Amino acid sequence: MKSNNINITGYGACGYVGKAAFIIQDNDRQILLDAGLKIKSGELTEAPKGIDKHVPFLDGVIVSHAHTDHSTYTPSLIKHGFQGSIHMTPPTRDIAQVLWADHMKIEGERHWSEEDFLRAFSQIETHKYHEKFKIADGITAEFYNAGHILGSAITVIDWDGTRILYTGDFNDRVTAIFDGFEIPEEEVDIVITESTNGVRDIPKREIVNKQLMDKTRETLSRGGKMLIPTFSIGRSQELLFEIAREKALDKVPVYIDGMIRSMNAITNRYLRPDFVAPKVLDLVKDLGGKSPLKKDNFHDVTRENFGNTGEFRRRVSRSDETSIIVSTAGMLDAGPIHTYLDGTAHQRKNTLAFVGYQVEGTQGRQILDGSRKMVINKLMRRPKTINLDLEIMRFHFSGHTSKEGIKSLMELTNPKEVVLVHGDLENQKNLVNYLSNGRNYTILDEKKQFTYNI
Ligand SMILES: [Zn+2]
Ligand SMILES: [Zn+2]
Repeated sequence: MKSNNINITGYGACGYVGKAAFIIQDNDRQILLDAGLKIKSGELTEAPKGIDKHVPFLDGVIVSHAHTDHSTYTPSLIKHGFQGSIHMTPPTRDIAQVLWADHMKIEGERHWSEEDFLRAFSQIETHKYHEKFKIADGITAEFYNAGHILGSAITVIDWDGTRILYTGDFNDRVTAIFDGFEIPEEEVDIVITESTNGVRDIPKREIVNKQLMDKTRETLSRGGKMLIPTFSIGRSQELLFEIAREKALDKVPVYIDGMIRSMNAITNRYLRPDFVAPKVLDLVKDLGGKSPLKKDNFHDVTRENFGNTGEFRRRVSRSDETSIIVSTAGMLDAGPIHTYLDGTAHQRKNTLAFVGYQVEGTQGRQILDGSRKMVINKLMRRPKTINLDLEIMRFHFSGHTSKEGIKSLMELTNPKEVVLVHGDLENQKNLVNYLSNGRNYTILDEKKQFTYNI
């Protein structure tokens, strides 16, 4: 008699963050959870090794959310012969389209071609939250809002009656867009969870938001500019919603620059009860049906609005006007934020606010570690070193769950087995110690199978 044990194998995001790709299989069927790339500062992205040979046998692919480390290897599956469905939520599809196109612009066809990219889109099947869909015979799945970024999903898979929950990236904190994550009411057998934050203390979002807003008001009142470099999706919309809520900032120009603009446009399409928290819709109502991202004092820095954007950025940064600038890149290695800093970095009255994680090796990280110099336009013809005399502040936002969030996930779903992924080993070990109470925990090792005996 053949056994029908379920095996889970990680091809990335095992003991570190990046290139998430996990295969769940039994004797007859196999599915892939996520297909991400690993981002390395100053280097090209890295693909998960070893999944290509599985690709022709995959019955389906689930993409938990659009972040590069979870989605950007997906078109390569097409190149390796995948003809089935790629399941994700509608916002994830829209955001992935922008991020994948951007990836191609930067790295060309290293991992996949433009044709693979287009074919991948024809194989995407979107599902809203709480809609059961079929992946293969005997396998169904359902998405729940993960509260991480727009469209992010916690996936619950029913595999011949065995229930497997994959968290993807999730957040328990109440943010300006979400009220934490959702999960099913029934128990599950296996939880595969991210463990990015380990047991680190994650402050409540309202505290961090207040710190940021206080510093913003202080900066503006001393005649300065508030510069917020941030990633295009997630934190930027959150902060813009927060700024939109502050009536005291109604008259302050907010300049929005870089890829954040495309992500705002996508966000505007999903300001609906199934994708964002009710408070966002209340805010829309307060604004007479208008998206908070389109408030009168919010300005998209585009050629259509302001003519030559480079010149406009220089003008804004050198003017005496107080303003808030929300721009890519989040880790200060490139992007319009460089031009804004060129004109503002020498004045103490201005503030540079870090609102996201800074990867080792990035200029953002070097500044957080104490450097007060940076190179702007590093990759362009005229790189220039500038001194940072402005105030530099760090705010402890995290898009990932706290240890309390994981604990409550355990209590609510009561799994027999817990598999930890997407976190560094130290954090994972600490988390296991913190959670331990009779459950079985496995820190997934790359390419080592975890077996669930039915
Ligand atoms: Zn993510
Ligand atoms: Zn991730």
